[in-house]
Amino acid sequence: MAKQFDVAVIGAGAAGMMCAAVAAQNGKRVVLIDHAAKLAEKIRISGGGRCNFTNINTAPANFLSANPHFAKSALSRYTPHDFIALVKKHRIGYHEKHRGQLFCDDSAELIIGMLKDECAAGGVTWRMPTKVESIDKTLEGFLLATDTGDILADNVVIATGGLSIPKIGATDFGLRIATQFGLGVVEPRPGLVPLTFDGPSWETFAPLAGIALEVEVETGSGKGKGNVKGKFREDLLFTHRGLSGPAILQISSYWQPGTPIIVNLLPEIDVAEALIEGKATLKKQMGNILSQWLPARLAEGLLAAHGFALDARLADMQDARLRKLGDAINRWSIVPAGSEGYRKAEVMLGGVDTRELSQQTMMANKVAGLYFIGEAVDVTGWLGGYNFQWAWASAAAAGIALAGE
Ligand code: FAD
Repeated sequence: MAKQFDVAVIGAGAAGMMCAAVAAQNGKRVVLIDHAAKLAEKIRISGGGRCNFTNINTAPANFLSANPHFAKSALSRYTPHDFIALVKKHRIGYHEKHRGQLFCDDSAELIIGMLKDECAAGGVTWRMPTKVESIDKTLEGFLLATDTGDILADNVVIATGGLSIPKIGATDFGLRIATQFGLGVVEPRPGLVPLTFDGPSWETFAPLAGIALEVEVETGSGKGKGNVKGKFREDLLFTHRGLSGPAILQISSYWQPGTPIIVNLLPEIDVAEALIEGKATLKKQMGNILSQWLPARLAEGLLAAHGFALDARLADMQDARLRKLGDAINRWSIVPAGSEGYRKAEVMLGGVDTRELSQQTMMANKVAGLYFIGEAVDVTGWLGGYNFQWAWASAAAAGIALAGE
């Protein structure tokens, strides 16, 4: 005999726990199911273990989606301040680290504990670890066959997240269920991910692993379907296989395979102009000048790549050569070979097509009672707390809609 519930939430991560708590605290009988043995691993490892749980500057412009308008409704109805109020209610200390990013003072575990307590306050039933084998829509409701017994529920919320970090339990369950019920899916790909490089143009930079500096990075023309222009000023890190750091993670979500990213290694200085103007006054060697502005190993690498001796005197250089060097520093154009993939990606881009969902409730337009929330949906935030804010906001939208059923 199947156990009966008003709502079955599949996936007890950020969005799933939030949605279960909201619906249950509003009187719904909710069961929360997850296949993992350990609860909410992604929250635990997030923000370097301190969970960057929101960004106070959250706006729709901080998200990528085939339909950039979709997220507006949920984001405006459950704001960072709503989540901060919850964090304060649970007396969790937090601080702003950088550009509106809020982190726990102590540990991400406190956010997991908070969400667990919120679920307990509503009397949520837990089924974990439990594997959902199939979902069928019947006349009585959704019948979930699981390895710990059948569940019958009037509504099902899919909160199984994206494909990144498979080793901690990420699956394509959400995408498979969407397809099973005839809903479109925007092709998924890794986002917020280090980029890899190879070939001769990379040889100069391969030995620079470990160097970090603030840069401006951009990609995309903004013209044509799916070509969105991205531009960020953040830190870049040279790695053994390519480039990483916040600047690269951010731009990776905008990057299209086969196209270049343009990096300004010295955004404060117009290098060609500074060098040409400085010819009369800067009686110095090229190596000394550039290493005033850039990490010394990077300066040396760039000069070598452009055929300058470190002790070449600036005053002796032709303007045309200096312009070329300036361009290589202010507009370094390089085509990534690929990315580190879902193994290292913080998020999945793409997911359940938002045209299939109600932006008010997150319910599938053509399957009454079936909801999709969080990262499984084609809404992906920038680095900096935006992805959790989407998880909370989309979960609250569904939870409130379910409460009103
Ligand atoms: P998840 O939190 O991933 O939860 C999905 C749940 O579904 C999991 O518990 C999983 O076990 C379960 N599940 C999956 N498949 C099945 C299945 N078939 N059956 C049953 N259960 C299933 N975002 C930020 O905003 N700030 C950060 O600081 C941040 N740091 C991050 C650091 C790392 C290393 C990574 C990988 C991501 C980070 N993110 C961060 C992104 C953020 O963690 C996710 O966007 C967010 O967790 C998505 O919430 P979700 O509830 O949709 O999915």
